[in-house]
Amino acid sequence: ETVINRIAAGEVVERPASAVKELVENALDAGAGRVDVACADGGKTLIRVTDDGHGIGAADLPMALARHATSKIDGSDLLNIRSFGFRGEALASLAAVGRLTLTSRRGEDAARIAAAGGEIGAVRPAALACGTVVELRDLFYATPARLKFLRSDRAEAQAITDVVKRLAMAEPFVSFTLRDLTGGGEGRVVFRADAETGDLFDALHGRLAHVLGVEFAENALRIDAEREGLRLTGYAALPTYSRGSAVAQYFFVNGRPVRDKLLIGALRGAYADFLSRDRHPAAVLFIHCDPHRVDVNVHPAKAEVRFREPGVARGLVVSALRHALAEAGH
Ligand code: ADP
Ligand code: MG
Repeated sequence: ETVINRIAAGEVVERPASAVKELVENALDAGAGRVDVACADGGKTLIRVTDDGHGIGAADLPMALARHATSKIDGSDLLNIRSFGFRGEALASLAAVGRLTLTSRRGEDAARIAAAGGEIGAVRPAALACGTVVELRDLFYATPARLKFLRSDRAEAQAITDVVKRLAMAEPFVSFTLRDLTGGGEGRVVFRADAETGDLFDALHGRLAHVLGVEFAENALRIDAEREGLRLTGYAALPTYSRGSAVAQYFFVNGRPVRDKLLIGALRGAYADFLSRDRHPAAVLFIHCDPHRVDVNVHPAKAEVRFREPGVARGLVVSALRHALAEAGH
């Protein structure tokens, strides 16, 4: 039985933002301290992710583009996943639906491989100081039906910004930039956050200010609670800092950004007495637990999780936030 058979095949790349997510996660998995993202036309014509991570050796470049090739797990313990990636599908999928060049350096060795519409070219020598650059042009040119379903450049660019901010929140010790290169030239800096320092709470607080604004950070309640082996940390806003939409809700489970109904419901529940139905609490919450108590393998996009004891997760979030709100006079 292979890893391939145990992982349900699924759609990895739905839109430019999903490509950005996969590429930035790869950079983080490679131990990058700096991740630079550049896009043009909502990512439809160009996505480029540059990192200073450990890189890929020339001999391993073809493998990186092969389907179901991952260097990250051996399949013996699918539940115990500590990296973002583990399916080995992302680069292969991107190479199939766009024009991709992967340039990387490991040690003295810098090389490049190009692929378009699933045709993979030869490995050639390249010049690169360190890390990896993945450039993806003309996403979905090979699948026009998919192209038709993309939204406006503006909407796709917004989705990319959201993805970068979520991953930036997950990794406050890494510096991030997001540039919009539409129209050529140096482009416009859309988002920038330098690497934070200090302990995790300091770093997260600094990152919060960059992502959600200084005012939010200064008025956020610190959350640090534990229940039956599940630890909850992060920051939650006073009800007065609620938003008209759920954009300022960030959840991470074992470091992975998730969008999970149970957690969203728990957050809403904690604020139920203070907010009307059309207001959404703002919070950045990290749950840490033994990897065997949560399944992150529910969906290929890896945004969903399934807790072994959903009641414990929900109870932890509701009680910790209610407690913090009560302490703050609510
Ligand atoms: P996965 O992340 O699930 O392993 P991907 O298709 O995203 O699969 O990547 C395939 C492989 O290519 C990774 O396992 C890794 O070895 C290598 N790789 C991809 N991106 C990078 C990067 N930015 N730096 C170093 N290695 C990378
Ligand atoms: Mg990956």
